Amino acid sequence: MPLRHVVSFDIGGTNLRTAVVAVDGSRAHLLSQSRRPTPNHLLRPAMCASERLDAVLDFIVTEVNDARRNHAIDAVAAAFPGPVDAEGRIVALPTLWGDEGAALCPLALDRLLEARLPGMPIRLFNDVTAAGHRFVGEHRDFALFTLGSGVGLKVFIDGRPQVGPHGAGGELTHMVFDPSPAAPVCDCGGRGHLGALASGRAWQRVRAAAEESEQKPDLDDFAEPLARAVAMLHYALGLEVFLFSGGLSEALGEALRTAIVRRLPEQGWSCGQDWSALIRLAPDDDAHALLGGALAVCRS
Ligand SMILES: [Zn+2]
Repeated sequence: MPLRHVVSFDIGGTNLRTAVVAVDGSRAHLLSQSRRPTPNHLLRPAMCASERLDAVLDFIVTEVNDARRNHAIDAVAAAFPGPVDAEGRIVALPTLWGDEGAALCPLALDRLLEARLPGMPIRLFNDVTAAGHRFVGEHRDFALFTLGSGVGLKVFIDGRPQVGPHGAGGELTHMVFDPSPAAPVCDCGGRGHLGALASGRAWQRVRAAAEESEQKPDLDDFAEPLARAVAMLHYALGLEVFLFSGGLSEALGEALRTAIVRRLPEQGWSCGQDWSALIRLAPDDDAHALLGGALAVCRS
């Protein structure tokens, strides 16, 4: 298979990231990358949702045209922090434009881009799905958790993301794991969701509370909801590979991995699982969605 070049985007709530990715069969590497702050509601409070959308479209089109000056670009992959349905439309994107952008969805953003980049193959992904595609060459059946400002999850079976017709697959992170009335509030507005209990922000909250009471933060307790989510997926689907990525996973590393492993035996039936072999840390190069999106667009 010839070497292909993809302009890959990872559109986040904090940064708009892009890279030119060289894909050679099942291998991919970044040739160049750049980032700029996302025009989110904190940075640009006066912007309306459609102006934010235009800013993202402008960023993508400009970067693709810039990349074309140096490389023969074969395709564009763009990852967004929201569910993507079976037709490739973005179902919701509150991270980028808050609740007022709901009227724009479902959004066929690929069509808008195709109109501005005629003839260029373009594919949209959920960002965790894009990240998961990085590992498809290595694993066929696995779950990928991303622990960042929120918590993301995608399950891959036989190398394919399991998202369902409306993109809800993986939203286990928005299930209630702590039903107490004082449980922390999630980004989505719900209370006690896994996303509110196991994110980078949640760990900051645990650390601050421990500092106040002059105790060490309890990482094992913090890891328990993650262990429960792993156990649900293991007992429901038989998965035996669980990858952890994202800023918090990179910061806590092996300490977090072993804490999850310690809280797994209490979750259910022990039938000889080697939990330590099942729980793995993803590489900490912060490039999963950029590389995975490029690999997926070349596989299709
Ligand atoms: Zn939630």
